[in-house]
Amino acid sequence: MRKKIVAGNWKMNGTQEEGQKLTSEIVNMVKDERISDVTVVLNPPFVHASNVKKLIGGVDNIFLGGQNCSDKASGAYTGETSASILASFGATYVIIGHSERREYFAESNAQLTEKVKLALENGLTPIFCCGEPLEIREAGTHEEYVKDQLTESLFGLSEADFAKIVIAYEPIWAIGTGKTASSDQAQEMHAAIRTHLASKYGKVADGTSILYGGSCKPDNAPEIFSKPDVDGGLIGGASLKSRDFVDIIK
Ligand code: PGA
Repeated sequence: MRKKIVAGNWKMNGTQEEGQKLTSEIVNMVKDERISDVTVVLNPPFVHASNVKKLIGGVDNIFLGGQNCSDKASGAYTGETSASILASFGATYVIIGHSERREYFAESNAQLTEKVKLALENGLTPIFCCGEPLEIREAGTHEEYVKDQLTESLFGLSEADFAKIVIAYEPIWAIGTGKTASSDQAQEMHAAIRTHLASKYGKVADGTSILYGGSCKPDNAPEIFSKPDVDGGLIGGASLKSRDFVDIIK
């Protein structure tokens, strides 16, 4: 049985007060509505970590994650946050290689390999993002493109380390655009990703949770999540609205 995971990516949103309100509402709904069979991960901006960690305390299936971590272990890297700092604040997950990091911060596959390594060394579960831009989708080479991202950043991992990875497939043309992949498009890519992972890691890939991300909302989540190789979602915009986010989890 693969873990069902719904992760909220707040991106660069939320004042302290808004973050606390959002977290409290999510915690209360998850408790009141007795949602226990889904792993929920909240990925706020780093400075929210302590507040969020306190508020989710005592709920077994809600976890704190980061949106990124440094590819360096520690030292003179102004503005960066390391995997070990994140872990020391009680985070257990970290998003790595989000398309916005790749695009706006020029993160390379090689850097992402380092981030994944440091995350694992510090006991964090990487949520490793992959996904193609529109022009690649239109050229029909999206499968190759995504496979290359996975090969270059992950295929150096041992089997034991690979077993700890969560994948998020996020077609870039669907992120924040309101244009989601169809459930068939999502399934096709998730199955291709799993087959590719299995070509290197065999049966271990059967246990890898592969999340879908890109304009996931309460009205399209049931259809997308019903597909056999879709194991949950990485949610941006809708994770900032407690009711929408919890409806997606449900
Ligand atoms: P979105 O973002 O749900 O707002 O499209 C998803 C993501 O970027 O993780």
